[in-house]
Amino acid sequence: MRKILIVGAGQSGLQLALGLQTHGYEVTLMSNRTADEIRSGRVMSTQCMFHTALEHERELQLDFWESQAPRIEGLGVSVAGPDSGRAVDWVGRLDGFAQSVDQRVKMAGWMETFAQRGGQLVIHGAAVSDLDYFSRTYDLVLVSAGKGELVSMFGRDASRSPYDAPQRALAVAYVHGMGPRPEHPDFDAVRCNLVPGVGELFVMPTLTLSGRADILFWEGVPGGPLDVFRGIKDPSEHLATTLELMERFTPWEYARATKVELTDANGTLAGRYAPTVRNPVGRLPGGGLALGVGDVVVANDPITGQGSNTASKCAHSYLHSILEHGDREFDAAWMRATFDRHWEKTQHVVKWTNAMLAPPPEHVLNLIGAGGQLQPVADRFANAFNDPADLDHFFFEPDRTNAYLAEVTAAAQA
Ligand SMILES: Cc1cc2nc3c(=O)[nH]c(=O)nc-3n(C[C@H](O)[C@H](O)[C@H](O)COP(=O)(O)OP(=O)(O)OC[C@H]3O[C@@H](n4cnc5c(N)ncnc54)[C@H](O)[C@@H]3O)c2cc1C
Repeated sequence: MRKILIVGAGQSGLQLALGLQTHGYEVTLMSNRTADEIRSGRVMSTQCMFHTALEHERELQLDFWESQAPRIEGLGVSVAGPDSGRAVDWVGRLDGFAQSVDQRVKMAGWMETFAQRGGQLVIHGAAVSDLDYFSRTYDLVLVSAGKGELVSMFGRDASRSPYDAPQRALAVAYVHGMGPRPEHPDFDAVRCNLVPGVGELFVMPTLTLSGRADILFWEGVPGGPLDVFRGIKDPSEHLATTLELMERFTPWEYARATKVELTDANGTLAGRYAPTVRNPVGRLPGGGLALGVGDVVVANDPITGQGSNTASKCAHSYLHSILEHGDREFDAAWMRATFDRHWEKTQHVVKWTNAMLAPPPEHVLNLIGAGGQLQPVADRFANAFNDPADLDHFFFEPDRTNAYLAEVTAAAQA
């Protein structure tokens, strides 16, 4: 039986560990926190996952919270106008619903499942020197430790990482008591509120430790009026600041939020990081090799809500590469090929996410504006969150955007 070590128990590491386990591999999972510590710790993400990523979880029968988590059936875009109103406001319908399950709930639950199914769970914050030793005793070492210190083993790929500094300051608050969207109270949606030159506010429902909740998530341009959370330690002050900024920049969302309270004392998060693609093969000082997984190799800014989706798709792709490799050696060439297979799809996510961090060109403004008049445009844009490869057909090149809008307009007139 092949022995595999996975370091890091997040979306990618746990999904891969549980997948390999069902195929009879002897898997050791190393986590720097216990399930209880994760459950009683701070929120980590907004983790909205779309249809394809959820399907990968369903294939492994890991969709434990599907019936309890709100079904996100739409994705809305609002653009703040100069008069405190909205210059653009539409909602696209998703072909398959999305869901957000608080990672404190999901990772703690999956970790316990892994152990109950006989998996070897080791609670230890791994260092590079540990991995050197383990690379001699395991057939394969996978590092899925997110954006932690172990990423230093994997060199930054400058050709695929256009930014070398954070492009947004992030501030998250989980709340109870949010009112429905008055325009469409009949179905749940993520709403992306764009405030030109300032940043973005994402509002979405989630399933957290205390049941259904909503997440208020500001992404602020560094140095701008939203970049004010860094020094805030008190969760109530974090929420008060979130709401003040909503009242000032997105009053239509603030109107729904006047009665909210934090879900729990750990329901806030603030931080920032530079979006980075890394070399997938880590060479250990003693000559061993490790393959990076999830955010270790591709960390996108959360502006497009793709990180957990990409982590799930990475775990799915790597699982198949491992199974197909059978009993052969997991050498550097296999590791590179395994990552390249994942990159084939993920490159579209990286291209789009990095584009969204820059001021939008005119054809993109036209496209987003058109969603308000042409429902097929709104629907297609919404579904691109599930399949970002589709954006190549109508988002990046002005000629393609114009041709697409002309086609949809003609169809609407006919
Ligand atoms: C504010 C915010 C909002 C987001 N919103 C979304 C969204 O809406 N949709 C979406 O798809 N993505 C979103 N993301 C991104 C998403 O959360 C991540 O991309 C995803 O969790 C990455 O999964 P992962 O398995 O690679 O790493 P992680 O989930 O980070 O897991 C890594 C694990 O490794 C552990 N670890 C670290 N170092 C060590 C060590 N040395 N030894 C052992 N264990 C270690 C960590 O404790 C952690 O448990 C968001 C991220 C942020 C910050």
